[in-house]
Amino acid sequence: MKQLRVTNIQRGCVYDGPGVRTTVFLKGCYLRCPWCCNPETISFEKELFIDNSKCLLSKGVHSELCKLCQRNKGSNSITACPFGVAEETSRDYLPDELFHILLRDQSLYIESNGGITFSGGEPLFQSENLVSVLELLKEKGLHIALETSLIAPDQSLLLVNPFIDTYIVDLKIQPEMYLSDSNYQNEIKKHLMMIGGKSIFFRFVFVDSVMDYINEVKDWLSVMEINIIEILVCHNLGAKKYGKLSLANRDFTSSKEKAESFIDFLKDFGIASKILSI
Ligand code: SF4
Repeated sequence: MKQLRVTNIQRGCVYDGPGVRTTVFLKGCYLRCPWCCNPETISFEKELFIDNSKCLLSKGVHSELCKLCQRNKGSNSITACPFGVAEETSRDYLPDELFHILLRDQSLYIESNGGITFSGGEPLFQSENLVSVLELLKEKGLHIALETSLIAPDQSLLLVNPFIDTYIVDLKIQPEMYLSDSNYQNEIKKHLMMIGGKSIFFRFVFVDSVMDYINEVKDWLSVMEINIIEILVCHNLGAKKYGKLSLANRDFTSSKEKAESFIDFLKDFGIASKILSI
């Protein structure tokens, strides 16, 4: 049976849909937003976080324990390092195994009207394998949310849609990459139509350049009849992860003050928004 590749399972989440939830971060994404704070979720391939600051050699210590390490021309892979220099970024789970892990907080979901949220990366990237877990969770009557950009093949969305109660749509309309690209915009529009009738929350990562294209952003939100949106102020807390993956990191950090100006601007056009402090 096919497995699901997961980077993190976070319990007790209160921002990823109604009530108290467990959020599952799935590996793999169709996009590559340069401000992504979880870069280990972008590629579907297995990867390692390498933390060179933990390596004894980098501190000039020549330990017996390091003698067999590849960094000492030995035969042991760096993954055998006893000091945690290499760490897998993901783990593969059989659907049944993941299902039983998610059931640990079943009573909490029921007490708080919460449930399970699948996020990423892009959870639709693993739609085919995800369906098996969704079926099991739905048999238990649990509430399921999906945090997605909706940038994915139609078939991936159609497969999971019957099991999803709430969508958290992470809107890709930032000027740097997405706002002027009609392909992205048409894809989002088409998929919003496909999930029409479900409960939908909209989210948006605020980057400074939005203020330079404020009218275009506002027009797009109005055309799509989006009248309430949660704002995440872009930060650079993922910088260390980029380093551990040997990826270039660009800092798009914005300020709460700038995001508040954006909120005021939207308010004048009847679009309510608030900053989500995660
Ligand atoms: S075993 Fe770990 S600490 Fe020692 S050289 Fe290898 S990576 Fe560095």
